[in-house]
Amino acid sequence: MAKAGWHVTVLEKQSTPGGRARQLKEAGFIFDMGPSWYWMPEVFERFFNSFGKKVSDYYKLDRLDPSYRVYWPQAPGGKDAPMDIPADYEALKKLFENIEPGSGSMLDSFMKEAVYKYEVGINKLVHKPGQSYTEFLDWELVKGVFKLDVFTSMKKHISKHFKNPKLQQLLEFPVLFLGALPENTPALYSLMNYADIKLGTWYPHEGMYKIVEGMFSVAEELGVKFIFNSDVCEIKVEKGKAVEVIANCQLLTGQPSGPIL
Ligand SMILES: Cc1cc2nc3c(=O)[nH]c(=O)nc-3n(C[C@H](O)[C@H](O)[C@H](O)COP(=O)(O)OP(=O)(O)OC[C@H]3O[C@@H](n4cnc5c(N)ncnc54)[C@H](O)[C@@H]3O)c2cc1C
Repeated sequence: MAKAGWHVTVLEKQSTPGGRARQLKEAGFIFDMGPSWYWMPEVFERFFNSFGKKVSDYYKLDRLDPSYRVYWPQAPGGKDAPMDIPADYEALKKLFENIEPGSGSMLDSFMKEAVYKYEVGINKLVHKPGQSYTEFLDWELVKGVFKLDVFTSMKKHISKHFKNPKLQQLLEFPVLFLGALPENTPALYSLMNYADIKLGTWYPHEGMYKIVEGMFSVAEELGVKFIFNSDVCEIKVEKGKAVEVIANCQLLTGQPSGPIL
């Protein structure tokens, strides 16, 4: 909005920016309080580019190898060792093959579908502004509706390719990021397996809060004003237009503190 010329004021109820990605400093230690997986780096690049900036203007990224470690639930007396997921695709295929013979080449065909979904899904769905249904009347989307697997679930799609329960769980877990279950999520979202396996897991030097600091700087550079410790309790609307914002109504007298914008 600021880039489009609006005067923007952000009312934030916490004392710092970041929300779920906030940071906690305690006894000389610093903790990221939310995200730890940095996936789809081009989404962040695209965000900063849209303000004439680059990710590297704000933080340095490393691709992690291994990408992450998976701990299996232990049955009583069980001793399933944690599994490191290699960043290298060929090494991952070997790992799959050791668990289920034939699953390495299955992973190839699974990823071939996933890359198609990623390209169409990200470019034709995610990056659309979402202001009108007509944005989605796209020939590529219509043509690809079956290839995009919107009518089958992630669970079914994965179990069609892989029989081993560990491999199934490995491929199902990214759906967790959608706050969803693999049985209820369309197999279109195997695009997230592409993001995981091919695009990789990254990490900003000094932690995830660097992303927040970067976004905060961009906003400030564009003249956005931030008012912290402002818990919005009411937005007064007249004739469909917001005319007043009331913050901290509880904090003061139990009565609205009065309009602050
Ligand atoms: C434990 C955890 C792990 C996660 N892991 C990952 C991960 O690995 N990778 C990943 O990509 N994502 C992850 N996420 C998700 C990611 O953190 C969030 O999707 C993202 O931070 C949401 O950003 P947001 O700005 O949309 O919302 P929020 O971060 O929720 O920001 C909303 C802001 O509004 C403020 N606010 C709310 N109500 C009011 C009010 N009445 N008045 C004023 N201010 C108000 C809040 O204080 C907050 O600052 C994780 C989240 C959590 C909690």
